[in-house]
Amino acid sequence: MRGKIIAGNWKMNKDVFGGAMLVRELVDSLATEPGVQAVLCPPFPVLAAAAQLLENTGIFLGAQNMHFENDGAYTGEVSGSMLVAVGCTHVILGHSERRQYFGETETTVNRRVRKALEVGLTPIICIGETLDERDRGITESIVERQLLGAFSEVSPDDAARCIVAYEPVWAIGTGRNATPGQAQDVHAFLRSVLSRVYGHETAAGIILQYGGSMKPDNAFELLSQPDVDGGLIGGASLTASSFIAIVDAARRSLIR
Ligand code: PEP
Repeated sequence: MRGKIIAGNWKMNKDVFGGAMLVRELVDSLATEPGVQAVLCPPFPVLAAAAQLLENTGIFLGAQNMHFENDGAYTGEVSGSMLVAVGCTHVILGHSERRQYFGETETTVNRRVRKALEVGLTPIICIGETLDERDRGITESIVERQLLGAFSEVSPDDAARCIVAYEPVWAIGTGRNATPGQAQDVHAFLRSVLSRVYGHETAAGIILQYGGSMKPDNAFELLSQPDVDGGLIGGASLTASSFIAIVDAARRSLIR
């Protein structure tokens, strides 16, 4: 059975002092249990302090991006092996904000995915349609193209190690979440595409997270959908109480 994975995308929020404070609060009160994993993805300058605080807690550490080369003349970039060295196990890739503001393309997302897998990181691959695309009825073709692009030349064994986050762009940071039915429909579609490429067994094991205004008051219903295996949480990951409440909703959704 797939467990649930709740990841917090802090985006460009919290410096090393505020970040360490939030990690401490989470470590003190986040009871992780088998079946539910929590992953914190703070900004780069917080990673080293967070890694120390998270040691032996069962809470995982992720970054929000990485470059696809190992090292070299790429001013301002950070490599996957640097993330591993600082204690990361996960990395968010292809977030819509990176596609929108920083020129990420399907090709560069795919190169990052393959490099992340090569260095032993779990990629959290973000895909999702804009409001205009949903209104035009092309959600499935958009997310299928993004999914296939991200998984290009990824082997079945490596695919099994990936997490996909379906994040409708119109739901990110807007307070307007997809309904549980809308999320389930897209997740089931994504799993059918993965099944076509990798076979039923592999596809059935891949974690599909929903992201986009997931909050304590809507998390349980979203996470109770059969193909919603977790959440990628932006705004609500910035306060300990709301992130803990979402992890708790994930736990309750498993024992329903
Ligand atoms: C995100 O940016 O990944 C996200 C889901 O943000 P929010 O929860 O704030 O909508």
